[in-house]
Amino acid sequence: MTELTLLNPSDESLIATIPAASIEETDAAVARAVVAQRAWARLAPIDRARALRRFADAVDGAVEELAALEVRNSGHPIGNARGEAAHVRDVLEYYSAAPERLFGRQIPVAGGLDVTFHEPIGVVGVITPWNFPMTIASWGFAPALAAGNAVVLKPAEWTPLTSLRLAELALESGLPEGLFQVLPGEGRVVGDRLVGHPDVRKIVFTGSTATGTAIMAKAAAHVKPVTLELGGKSANLVFADSDLEKAAATAPYGVFDNSGQDCCARTRILVERSAYDRFMELLEPAVKGVRVGDPSDAATEMGPLVSRPHFDKVASYVPDDAPVAFRGEAPSGPGYWFPPTVLTPSSATDRTVTDEIFGPVVVVLPFDDEADAIRIANDSRYGLSGSIWTRHLSRGIRVSRAIESGTLSVNSHSSVRYTTPFGGYKHSGLGRELGPDAAFAFTETKNVFIAVSDSAVE
Ligand code: NAD
Repeated sequence: MTELTLLNPSDESLIATIPAASIEETDAAVARAVVAQRAWARLAPIDRARALRRFADAVDGAVEELAALEVRNSGHPIGNARGEAAHVRDVLEYYSAAPERLFGRQIPVAGGLDVTFHEPIGVVGVITPWNFPMTIASWGFAPALAAGNAVVLKPAEWTPLTSLRLAELALESGLPEGLFQVLPGEGRVVGDRLVGHPDVRKIVFTGSTATGTAIMAKAAAHVKPVTLELGGKSANLVFADSDLEKAAATAPYGVFDNSGQDCCARTRILVERSAYDRFMELLEPAVKGVRVGDPSDAATEMGPLVSRPHFDKVASYVPDDAPVAFRGEAPSGPGYWFPPTVLTPSSATDRTVTDEIFGPVVVVLPFDDEADAIRIANDSRYGLSGSIWTRHLSRGIRVSRAIESGTLSVNSHSSVRYTTPFGGYKHSGLGRELGPDAAFAFTETKNVFIAVSDSAVE
């Protein structure tokens, strides 16, 4: 493949064909990044901070443009896309404070002065998926740049346009040439080369667990650190003591947001048996009320799936004899439209219960008591996110501590805030992004001991 063909998911029209980068072009980009990084790391922290703020300002001025691009390239509803572009600006603003806050420590030792420094790693490879092209990219590039690194970003094959525009905005805002480069191309070409390139010193990968484990194995041969944000099959636990109306009204947003193409989607709704029938009665109108349609319409809540191959994968989980409890509406005609779908499988080993479908398909399962709810929630190889609905604070705390998952919310479906850490347990990932510590993950810690008395010379 020397070209990437980009189709509009809403109507399957051709948006563009763009050249796919080769291995040689990847090597050339890394070489430019090495040079740019050395100069960037020598800048005073305040100057790196100012440069990142100017980049944030440039993104701020382009929120509408970036949002419109994401609507066309990814089919995201315009309201969501605006929020995503604004989130990139916020992430850049947040990490623009980091260059001046990457403090080392002074540790008491005998005979001398001992200090630690947080030094940039060098060139960082950021490899992103297609579901949230802009935001996930920013979780990697913003803290990496703040810590004095250069970044080569490889966006997903289907959705490179907003990342390419972000690289232009970086240059327009005055960020040095070569410091933040975006290379559209194939995972097995550009992505694989970044993982294997000796001058790329860290990989930040978001995508499927299968690709993430292959990347980790390859990076191991180079003793190269990786941050992995992988798949999910998160649970939404609804206890009988919860505000059932609210739990049912919000459940569709916990799973159908971004058409279910969300690693944090609460795709297993677990309901206490005594409240099950009432919850399903309340859930049905909420699901049928999700507004699915033209993503450029501000009233739209759910757009199409991203591509034909992905549509086919999602559809394979809902054959004609699937245990469909009820479904919402979706447009017919061209475009990858899939209705919000609620399944009630009879077996916990059904693949709709165990697999990440990554579409607007949710399973609802009953549980008997708190211990049963925790057991079912943890009966997954994933552990990314989850919600707990209860009126009892003690239960909310108890259950959230018992669930093997990186990001939980009580009486809410919120998962991502740039001010708080985000990442997964088990097969959902390795390391944490976002929050106050993320920039440290893009540094090497150096310890220096300075003798102050002759007895400490050795
Ligand atoms: P994917 O693994 O197919 O691709 C992700 C990226 O990796 C793409 O850019 C792809 O080109 C690249 N790639 C593919 N093979 C590669 C290789 N051998 N070496 C290097 N790079 C390679 O994932 P996807 O289908 O784009 O995204 C969907 C998946 O992402 C879902 O499983 C979802 O849960 C996960 N995801 C996780 C998070 C999180 O934060 N945990 C966030 C979003 C998406």
